[in-house]
Amino acid sequence: MRSYTNADVKRLDIEHFIHPYTDFATFRQEGSQITASASGVHIFDEEGRKYLDGIAGLWCVNLGHGRRELVDAIAHQAATMQYYNPFGHSTNVPAALLAAELAELLPGSLNHVFYTTGGSTANDLAIRMVHHYFNRLGKPNKKKIIARVDAYHGSTYVTAQLTGIHATKYGFDSVGQDFIHHISAANSYRRPAGMSEAAYCDHLVQEFEDRILQLGPDNVAAFIAEPIMGAGGVLVAPDGYHRRMHAICRKYGLLYIADEVVTAFGRLGEWSASEALYGYVPDIMILAKGLTSGYIPLGAAVFSSEFYDVIASPQCEGGQLTLGFTYSGHAVACAAGLATIETMKRDGLNEHVRVVGPAFLKALEALNAFEIVGDVRGSHLMCGIELVKDKVAKRSFAPTVGSAHQVFLACRERGLIVRPIGDKIVLSPPLIFTEEHCQETVRILSEAISAVS
Ligand code: PLP
Repeated sequence: MRSYTNADVKRLDIEHFIHPYTDFATFRQEGSQITASASGVHIFDEEGRKYLDGIAGLWCVNLGHGRRELVDAIAHQAATMQYYNPFGHSTNVPAALLAAELAELLPGSLNHVFYTTGGSTANDLAIRMVHHYFNRLGKPNKKKIIARVDAYHGSTYVTAQLTGIHATKYGFDSVGQDFIHHISAANSYRRPAGMSEAAYCDHLVQEFEDRILQLGPDNVAAFIAEPIMGAGGVLVAPDGYHRRMHAICRKYGLLYIADEVVTAFGRLGEWSASEALYGYVPDIMILAKGLTSGYIPLGAAVFSSEFYDVIASPQCEGGQLTLGFTYSGHAVACAAGLATIETMKRDGLNEHVRVVGPAFLKALEALNAFEIVGDVRGSHLMCGIELVKDKVAKRSFAPTVGSAHQVFLACRERGLIVRPIGDKIVLSPPLIFTEEHCQETVRILSEAISAVS
């Protein structure tokens, strides 16, 4: 690498690096902060300033930064056999072993793993597979997909359309994506005034059934949902919601795709949340992020045996299963996945999260005392704070920009990274957070909210 100063990096960054999800109104003036190094639950900027990482990079560095186990596993595999193509009858040791580990850790008959390069590509691939599955079953009209408003499923052409967050759509097209439909998010905080949570759940399930009937059950292939909506603002569904939505899927022959990109791998104190916390087994589960603890890109769509039996039966026409990525089952990424699982098991991280997670949420609830805090919610180490202009009327700050962004800046000044999304602040720290880290997070958040209130 050529020699550089931090000023060079910032200039080259502005000139050449198109950052994801970036506000170009301010990017060229403000530039970026360089994350220069990271260790444990902390990151360090180019001036050596230290920050508590309240978001685990981006919901992903679950084991914390700079873990020797991960670095060694990656280095060892890179030195042994870094890559060979996975097409047809060619495989590698980590890819086969990780698939078998996942089959063991995931519920029901989720036994068949298709590797991708991240969450978007896994969701995208799952939709192509679902369409292929119904073609193979002789049901070529069963193609519509029902997703939810406020869901986040990715940034490829199809997954951007599955995504239901309005603000991600400005200026982009959805040509040919009219097979994707949206129903309401399960947003208990913003449910109709006076409606109980149980009645709200009935209402959401009814809306789903009505939509299937309106579209025609023979035309609807699948429902896709995150167990807890992440980027939508950490929305926890009412009790029984997912189980009942799953039962509706069964009633009308829809497949249930659980997008567990954020919720799996310990964030909720379980290997995956669908069955362990919500009592249903999806037909397809989507994994990424925590799968390698964010050390290297990897995603996976995991299919049930029932699904696999259909797509893996010999075809009379068309020959092979003709889809796949150069990096499906990349040996180095799969080695990182195996090391992640081994480290999580050895350190009892799921058990740790089951203790520290509820304590974190309880401590965060103190923030409800602020006039601009409308709601504090979440589960385990996946938490959200919704800011409001009027607490009683639950009136949001939008379209005025900035309350959450100001809190983000005030937290950063005080040495904590949180994530602002619209009027919401999201927290998803590394799973190695201790109760002391939780207390420190709440203390800094309190000061920051106080400063901007
Ligand atoms: N699904 C969910 C629930 C996500 O939160 C994300 C990313 O945040 C994705 C899918 C997309 O994953 P990726 O950014 O790895 O493509």
